[in-house]
Amino acid sequence: MSGNRTFTMIKPEAVENGHTGAILAKMQSGGFRIVALKKTQLSKERAGIFYEVHKERPFYGELVDYMSSGPIIAALLEKENAVADFRVLIGATDPADAAEGTIRKEFAESKAKNAVHGSDSDENAAIEANFFFAENERF
Ligand code: UDP
Ligand code: MG
Repeated sequence: MSGNRTFTMIKPEAVENGHTGAILAKMQSGGFRIVALKKTQLSKERAGIFYEVHKERPFYGELVDYMSSGPIIAALLEKENAVADFRVLIGATDPADAAEGTIRKEFAESKAKNAVHGSDSDENAAIEANFFFAENERF
């Protein structure tokens, strides 16, 4: 059975460019309820841990530098079939491949600076949410 929660971040360049409100509005219009929300900045060390699954990939160093370069918005979202439906809403990793109307199509600058993160499984959604939010920050 698929779960009903996913974790997202609005990435540094999208926050810096003032897209936070528009991106959160798209998430809510897409049927996702905000369970938890915060603006924070990852240290290089914490970004490295968050993306540890990618540590053997060639883009890992740049990804860690980028994700720790400025504040992000972290959110825990709720909807039936959340993980899969959210990945449809955000679109492909590379905005050049992202479908019309998706968040990445509209707001991403590049495959690296692609505006938003979305969890890839229920298990990772839970791990990622725990990385940012205490129980008393979820409603
Ligand atoms: N990324 C990158 N170059 C690549 C693939 C990924 O810079 O060739 C970055 C990009 O920011 C992406 C993140 O690494 O969102 C994690 O990659 P993943 O394959 O998990 O993509 P996602 O799940 O975010 O679509
Ligand atoms: Mg991923």
